[in-house]
Amino acid sequence: MSKDYDVIVIGAGPAGYVAAIRCAQLGMKTACIDKWINRDDQPAFGGTCLNAGCIPSKAMLESSELYHRAQHEFATHGIGVEKVTLDIAAMQKRKTGITTGLTGGIAGLFKANKVDGLFGSGRIIGTGEVEFTPNEGDAKTLTCENIIIASGSSPTQLPMAPFDGEYILDSWDALDLESVPERLGVIGAGVIGVELGSVWMRLGSEVVLLEAMDSFLAGIADAQIAKDAFRQFTKQGLDIRLGARVKGAEVKDGKVEVTFTLKDEDKTEVFDKLIVAVGRRPHTEGLFSDAAAVELDDKGFVAVDDEYRTNLPKVYACGDVIGGLMLAHKGSEEGVAVAEIIAGHKPQVNYATIPSVIYTAPEVAWVGQTEDALKAAGTEYKVGSFPFSANGRAKALEQAVGQVKMLACAKTDRILGVHMVGPFVSELLAEAVVAMEFGASSEDLALTVHAHPTLSESVHEAALSVDGRAIHAINRKR
Ligand code: FAD
Ligand code: NAD
Repeated sequence: MSKDYDVIVIGAGPAGYVAAIRCAQLGMKTACIDKWINRDDQPAFGGTCLNAGCIPSKAMLESSELYHRAQHEFATHGIGVEKVTLDIAAMQKRKTGITTGLTGGIAGLFKANKVDGLFGSGRIIGTGEVEFTPNEGDAKTLTCENIIIASGSSPTQLPMAPFDGEYILDSWDALDLESVPERLGVIGAGVIGVELGSVWMRLGSEVVLLEAMDSFLAGIADAQIAKDAFRQFTKQGLDIRLGARVKGAEVKDGKVEVTFTLKDEDKTEVFDKLIVAVGRRPHTEGLFSDAAAVELDDKGFVAVDDEYRTNLPKVYACGDVIGGLMLAHKGSEEGVAVAEIIAGHKPQVNYATIPSVIYTAPEVAWVGQTEDALKAAGTEYKVGSFPFSANGRAKALEQAVGQVKMLACAKTDRILGVHMVGPFVSELLAEAVVAMEFGASSEDLALTVHAHPTLSESVHEAALSVDGRAIHAINRKR
């Protein structure tokens, strides 16, 4: 008997919807199931990224940055504004308009590519069998040749500070606040902590971040760049307390009281709202029937081999649910790779050149290895750097802070890592990613003409500085 589909994808986030589209492009009859329900009780494709993550957070970062600059920077340009006002409802409406436009776009892409987008939940019954329970109506069994699990992740909950949706918030709640909290606490000064902390600080909150680690962005970003970013963020007003061990959070009289220890001293802070942003965990609840126990690793991620195969035949997985960097573009690349593997191709995701960005102001962006990782591996390296304070375009933008740092192999000059903090470095990073993907040397970038005046000249100068020949900065003695 013929099967309903060649491929059923469970999850329509950036991993799942991309996998589904690529499967259809490769001639496979494909369905993509998603159970996401938005605040307006409407289903939507796009997963965390489009509905509650990447896109709404960047919309709020942009709006809040404009509000902040209008208040604090316009006068420097000689521009007077009588009174800058804030309409959070309008700001939220703009954000929702962007996300619904994009999620509707996925529905359009499904239609154009003949992917059956199905709203409801999917449960794997066995190889080639998925139970589909539509949002409205009865469950039915769909048959298929292959299954792709792309069920994503959800916020990690702390037992001593459980989410309540009103005072103790996850990142989605924190993006949807209807007014500016006077005092905002954030547990976790990771990527979400600093991005959402920045949003509400710019809009007027006093923001305190309680971070368990003793150093900022430890194990995530290059230590020197993280130190530079920490300096910028604290100067802006983010109160980041490193080495804070949270003991409890209790809602009392419409406020949240947080107890923690800092340098062995007991402390208490009272906030109007508390965001908990301490990482995300794989989303696998309700995904498997007893007969279809897909193997999970010790942290609960779906275990896959290097071709994204689970322990069940013809069941694959990709995106946040398999772990690694929890980034939309990493999931999408894996989605394409899985589709192509099913079609018999031999694709490869280059995990060594996955870019990371923190969309604060200044932004933080990096690709490749950190200086500490190179030291730990005993790799001999050269380092070059260039400060934005010496870049004309950054000065014109009134954003001349931060630097570009480049690490290259001492023997071959091949670029091993590029780390930046500064204006629009999310965009500048693409040059470094392409260079590394092509196996470029620092000299390749040093020999490349960069337009003047652009921020990209800082990448050029950092490359020149690897061999002590930066023109617009004093080179390190070697
Ligand atoms: P998800 O996007 O989580 O999608 C999984 C989908 O599967 C969901 O829609 C869910 O409803 C569905 N699902 C789960 N189980 C079932 C089931 N049984 N049946 C049917 N459907 C199911 N990453 C970046 O790269 N850049 C950023 O700027 C960025 N900003 C972020 C900001 C925030 C606040 C957050 C929370 C995350 C951010 N991320 C960012 C991370 C990014 O959102 C994730 O890495 C990405 O969404 C993972 O994609 P995914 O497809 O694996 O999973
Ligand atoms: P994260 O891992 O970036 O940061 C979590 C932070 O919380 C860490 O610094 C950790 O030390 C700290 N922490 C953990 N437990 C704690 C505790 N009990 N008390 C105090 N601090 C504690 O995680 P996140 O910020 O929640 O983000 C989740 C995922 O979403 C990340 O993997 C990230 O890649 C992704 N994301 C990406 C972007 C982006 O690409 N710009 C933006 C937002 C989220």
